[in-house]
Amino acid sequence: MYADVLIEYNAKSVDKSFTYLIPNDLKDIIKIGMKVIVPFGSKKIYGFVINIKDIYEDSYELKSIDSIVDPNFVLNDELMDLGKYLQERTLCTKIVAYQTMLPSSMKVKEQKSNYSKYLVYIELNKDIKEIDEYIEKYPRRKKHKEILDALRDGRSLKSNYDSKYVNELLKEDLVKIIKEQIYRINKNNKIEDNVNLNIDQKNAVDKINLKEFKVHLLHGVTGSGKTEVYINLIKKVVRNNKCAIMLVPEISLTAQVVNKFYDRFGNDVAIFHSGLSEGERYDEYLKILRDEVHIVVGTRSAVFMPIKNLGIVIIDEEHSDTYKQDSNPRYSAIDMAEYRCRINNIPLVLGSATPSLESMARALKGVYNYIEMPNRVGNAKLPKISIVDMRTEIKKRNAIFSDVLKFKLSTRLEKGEQSILLLNRRGYSTVVSCKNCGYTYKCPHCDITLTYHKTSNNIRCHYCGYTVIKGEICPECKERSLGEHGLGTEKLELELNKLLPNARIIRMDADTTRNKGAHEDIIKKFRNHEYDILLGTQMISKGLDFPLVTLVGVINADATLNIPDFRSGERTYSLLSQVAGRAGRSDLLGEVIIQTYDPDNYTLKCVCNNNYMDFYNYEMGNRKKLSYPPYYYLTSIKIASKDYELAGKEVNKVRNYLEKKLSNNVIILGPTTANVFKINDVYRFQIIVKYKREPNLFSILKELDGLYMLNNKCNIEIDNNPLQV
Ligand code: ADP
Ligand code: ZN
Repeated sequence: MYADVLIEYNAKSVDKSFTYLIPNDLKDIIKIGMKVIVPFGSKKIYGFVINIKDIYEDSYELKSIDSIVDPNFVLNDELMDLGKYLQERTLCTKIVAYQTMLPSSMKVKEQKSNYSKYLVYIELNKDIKEIDEYIEKYPRRKKHKEILDALRDGRSLKSNYDSKYVNELLKEDLVKIIKEQIYRINKNNKIEDNVNLNIDQKNAVDKINLKEFKVHLLHGVTGSGKTEVYINLIKKVVRNNKCAIMLVPEISLTAQVVNKFYDRFGNDVAIFHSGLSEGERYDEYLKILRDEVHIVVGTRSAVFMPIKNLGIVIIDEEHSDTYKQDSNPRYSAIDMAEYRCRINNIPLVLGSATPSLESMARALKGVYNYIEMPNRVGNAKLPKISIVDMRTEIKKRNAIFSDVLKFKLSTRLEKGEQSILLLNRRGYSTVVSCKNCGYTYKCPHCDITLTYHKTSNNIRCHYCGYTVIKGEICPECKERSLGEHGLGTEKLELELNKLLPNARIIRMDADTTRNKGAHEDIIKKFRNHEYDILLGTQMISKGLDFPLVTLVGVINADATLNIPDFRSGERTYSLLSQVAGRAGRSDLLGEVIIQTYDPDNYTLKCVCNNNYMDFYNYEMGNRKKLSYPPYYYLTSIKIASKDYELAGKEVNKVRNYLEKKLSNNVIILGPTTANVFKINDVYRFQIIVKYKREPNLFSILKELDGLYMLNNKCNIEIDNNPLQV
């Protein structure tokens, strides 16, 4: 028997399979989808078995497969197929596609032979008579006797005893070792639920037919009880003895959702996210491989879990950026999920309070089934949202906190209620705006905020290259009041401490959550009211449910609005609605204060009125005018090189190539410098392709990609449906 093995080798050019002989001792165990070690040149390297065959016609002498890496692990047919789709969609190599689908404990090069965790017991290995004889024979071996006596009732953990004596007993064959594999995560305390779904929730569950492929958009305001809908759907699926995958955007969110799932489903759940240790991930993966769970809850890569007999996939907060991987392979988990659902003929449920424009457009066109939950559960009301004009505050020397926010924060403290403050410092390049009139530099051709480049002292458009020199005075009001702003969460914490010395403040951002379990810890402490104010980046905006929070403050709404990207309006709308949704989730009425230098901004007005549809229509107008998604699809092509001139030359070649090959219906923009022009001394140029229908695009891109395969001076990076351009 022979196996075709896909080789894991770094060079892009070796993305093909080689035939190996299957040695006799592996014949019965080897399967398609297994990972093996094979000789390659003078080395031994990893590969996947992608085909097994009886006949090999070439006369060329074959080498044998060395060994199987982990017999526990096989990529099943569905995943082998999904891997092909992944490769097609992202133009990545075959081997990268299959690697992407595996948890790192399964793909590391120097793989530990075994991640399994065992409990090690000892138990008696002789009958009682012989044990007694031994004890009688050696009356001075008191320690040995103690151990033997303790084991008379049955086995006991080896670690309970001094290993010196245990080893001696082992040597004499009086005791033996029993190893029992355990899972690091074990939740066997289910809590019975007694939630009666309300009418909207029931209606949502009923509208989803479990027996056919369909994408459903569940549009429910924050606090409308979407999680209960998911749980009910999954219960129905499990009752039919089928399985479910539920995706959540990030770990900070996972904590509460996962706990809810553990409460309801106990050990029937495997979880999967980057916050787990390698060992935990290995265990969770095994649970799935061994068909011990019906439900997987996890972040983006959980879409690749080898769960069999899939009955539903649910994607919570479907608008989240985290579902798109922003490094190679640049896949969208929603796209992958849709593929799996289609093959299995089962529903895909996309849930959100603020659906992505793409999803909403499809729902309105009837491509997706649209399900609405417009009300909060029970008596909870949506919070009252108001805008504070920071232009007047700055004149009162309130650079960070407006008077009204200060006042509201301190009254919350007095009443023993909690507050959340959002400051999203995701934009790195500084925005220049006028502190007097609020003017921000925008591109006349792209309707996008320009970015200040300190080194060259100019202000640039990242789309079309339009550039102006930064002057001394504001072009609008002619005051000498241009400023760059940049306030981060760390500084905010300091300032808040000064403002409210008695408040107990906790910060949640990338810096404070590096350690394992830090997210959960912060959330738990805040929930237990060990703190009065939680401040942080967008991490705090989603999913969290704290009944005592009655005030949410957004320190600088402009920070997200001014990010130079066509999606910044959409991101702002969803971020602010989400964070506003943290307030007033119980009987206590919630209130939201949004501070901005741009109080007339239409997106902010829509947030205040809680009017998604208004925002949707307004933003769709912008997208249409500027030919952006969902009216057009985008592909971004980046050319990167350490050699500035070469990159510039190659990117022009790429443009000519595309112009020649693509149809006239395609809009090609650029080349321009990429958003971040230089990273690690590598210069990056970018071309954007906009298209509605271009059937040959992927094959043309694949050819183009192939042209750079062997070029080690210049790299090409193709991103279909990029998050940012
Ligand atoms: P969403 O995800 O839509 O923002 P959640 O699922 O977090 O909303 O639900 C909001 C709150 O309402 C939660 O505390 C949840 O336990 C509660 N809840 C949901 N459905 C019901 C119900 N039918 N009856 C009572 N409480 C509910
Ligand atoms: Zn422009």
